[in-house]
Amino acid sequence: MPLTLVQGSYIVAGLFFILALAGLSKHESAPAGNRYGIIGMTIALVVTILAATGGVRFTGGETKGSGLIGLLLIAAAMAIGAVIGIAKARKVEMTGMPELIAMLHSFVGLAAVLVGWNSSYEAAPFAKVHDVEVFVGVFIGAVTFTGSIVAYLKLSAKIKSASMMLPGRHFINLGIIVAFFVMTAVYTAIPHEQLFARQLLLGIMTALALFLGWHLVASIGGGDMPVVVSMLNSYSGWAAAAAGFLLNNDLLIITGALVGSSGAFLSYIMCKAMNRSFISVIAGGFGSDGGVVGEAKDYGEHREIDAAGVAEMLKGASSVIITPGYGMAVAQAQYPVAELTKRLRERGVNVRFGIHPVAGRLPGHMNVLLAEAKVPYDIVLELDEINDDFADTDVVLVIGANDTVNPSAAEDPSSPIAGMPVLEVWNAHDVIVFKRSMATGYAGVQNPLFFRDNSQMLFGDAKERVDDIIAAL
Ligand code: NDP
Repeated sequence: MPLTLVQGSYIVAGLFFILALAGLSKHESAPAGNRYGIIGMTIALVVTILAATGGVRFTGGETKGSGLIGLLLIAAAMAIGAVIGIAKARKVEMTGMPELIAMLHSFVGLAAVLVGWNSSYEAAPFAKVHDVEVFVGVFIGAVTFTGSIVAYLKLSAKIKSASMMLPGRHFINLGIIVAFFVMTAVYTAIPHEQLFARQLLLGIMTALALFLGWHLVASIGGGDMPVVVSMLNSYSGWAAAAAGFLLNNDLLIITGALVGSSGAFLSYIMCKAMNRSFISVIAGGFGSDGGVVGEAKDYGEHREIDAAGVAEMLKGASSVIITPGYGMAVAQAQYPVAELTKRLRERGVNVRFGIHPVAGRLPGHMNVLLAEAKVPYDIVLELDEINDDFADTDVVLVIGANDTVNPSAAEDPSSPIAGMPVLEVWNAHDVIVFKRSMATGYAGVQNPLFFRDNSQMLFGDAKERVDDIIAAL
């Protein structure tokens, strides 16, 4: 295959990836964005496989491809991957997406580590540059690998989401980063013939990077996990870009850089939304000084209401705001919520949605669910667009949200989620909280909202309760 054709196709694929990212930034254009991504990836895969198996012709020579055996090996690997991927994708619930994504990020990290180790045995023309590429690739890959595994365990509730606080944790992190730079310099100075010394150093650095990835994410408290998820997304992009340098694959470098930079930008947006400093979050443990999480403070008694009572209240309301959270996703309550919205709007009630940027378990989680249930986009508002309107609202329906409507974030400086902007639902005339028990949310922090004079709890599965309200209206 001529080199110009390979490079031209890579540029076209890269352009499709940029169009895909642009499309994914808005609800309306997201399906087109997905299609661009699929086209780009198809071009990328076909050309890469043809170039790898058939060889590449360029002025002054040609590379030898791996031939039919290579093609069969790639086909077998893709078939196994496709079977596992399709089975997983068919089974996964929307609520299980974050942990699946974290798991997939860990594979990218592991791939970068393996590519780096494999490359470390090759003699390259620019040996010192190549050595640095190996070290950087393995380091980012290893941090992404273990960091993503801890994120997977936390998101799937297999381990506690509260932060782990090792004494002197910042010094540990800083020490490992300094050691990485020193070891990189030493590695480039060791001649290629001293293979044992080089591989020993690479092995020590890999072990330290694996520890760092685990430690960084284990130190981050539950409430800050959204930033971690987008940050690991960014790391996985940089790990892929590093692998692209090692494999001499321009498209992998472009794609990795696109994922890395868009992930970094998303992390920045998440940090801004949560009023966190990016550096503090990635340094681990911001917003949690190791104090008690889920403390048993006595906030008094809560009041309960039934679905018929809520229906009566809604009949007399002229303005309603619905603030959905993770529980709406668990209950799959978006369809009855959309139906309730329709019924209320037909009665002339002004119904709007207030969406917290980290509601649910994925950036944009609530927007996706509401779009799926065909809730009109123009009544779905962001936190800063709606927060001032709660005071003029008759009824707020908090459907499966907890941390994102917790007043202690705004009022209690000692709270682990202190400083995080929240939907100030308590300013409304009446607040109805849909949940199954008095349990805490993801951050493990008790919510004083439930005990306020204007709050009432509607216990049970959110979908069933919304259905009951519709029946009673
Ligand atoms: P929370 O996780 O704080 O609370 C969800 C609530 O839903 C729980 O209190 C639970 O109470 C209730 N619930 C669960 N199932 C049901 C059901 N079937 N019916 C009714 N209620 C139910 O949700 P929020 O959306 O308010 O906050 C999101 C949290 O997740 C934040 O802490 C955020 O930082 C974190 N996070 C967000 C990510 C993102 O990207 N968006 C990623 C990772 C973490 P009960 O059990 O009593 O029913």
